[in-house]
Amino acid sequence: MNSTPLTTRDFAAVLEEYADRFSLLTDLLIEENKIHNLTRITDPTQILFRHILDSLIALKILDFPAESGSGFTCVDIGSGAGFPVLPLAIVRPDWKFLSIEATGKKAAFQQKACRALGLTHVQVLSARAEDLAHDRRYRQRFDAVLARAVANLSVLAELSLGFVKIGGRLIAWKGPDVAEELRLALKTFDQMGAAEVKRVPYLLEGVNTEKISMSLIVAEKTRSVLDGLPRSFAQIKHRRLPDICI
Ligand code: SAM
Repeated sequence: MNSTPLTTRDFAAVLEEYADRFSLLTDLLIEENKIHNLTRITDPTQILFRHILDSLIALKILDFPAESGSGFTCVDIGSGAGFPVLPLAIVRPDWKFLSIEATGKKAAFQQKACRALGLTHVQVLSARAEDLAHDRRYRQRFDAVLARAVANLSVLAELSLGFVKIGGRLIAWKGPDVAEELRLALKTFDQMGAAEVKRVPYLLEGVNTEKISMSLIVAEKTRSVLDGLPRSFAQIKHRRLPDICI
């Protein structure tokens, strides 16, 4: 485990550079939240801190300072109102993003936000990840799969790793105390082709903000996923993968 946490503190310049875009995203979210319940965070400063800044931490793993060339592909599963996908897409217009969200009203908000922000490199689908992971257009096609606050790691490993190319990565946002959840999920990660899994601690902090200890779970895909995986969501929830396969 890496003992020195990553930090969001040095994204201050990024927040400043893209301040207008983040501000527009925040306004759109606050407005939509009056009609549809998309987030319990409604204060603009807190949206910037807890949603936008927190989303950007993935760049520390994938690309900070900017290294990955254009055409880098990311899929965000269970993206809700657009986190982490929309802040990342604002900062990396040269990447390609797919956003998968099961709830129609949340996906519709993201489509609206993409139009308003001119994010033509983001495709938003209202669908379930476990279904699209079997679609040839998306299966094992992405450099990275991202998932923030979607499911426990055993479920998430099965839902997500079908999207990733060999050599690609899963990044999952988690709280600080994830060791036991990770231990229980390791076999599923292995069966989904990711033997290398680590917890990367980070501090969610800005200039003059509180500091919150968090973790990223980073898994590297080294093998292909078996044809029948992921299973249906009912099966994933009902029975752990290690009981039935390999
Ligand atoms: N990632 C967003 C964030 O961090 O703000 C949303 C988190 S929200 C707690 C989890 C979202 O995952 C919900 O919007 C839910 O509809 C979506 N979700 C859960 N399971 C899913 C699945 N199998 N496929 C697609 N979306 C899913």
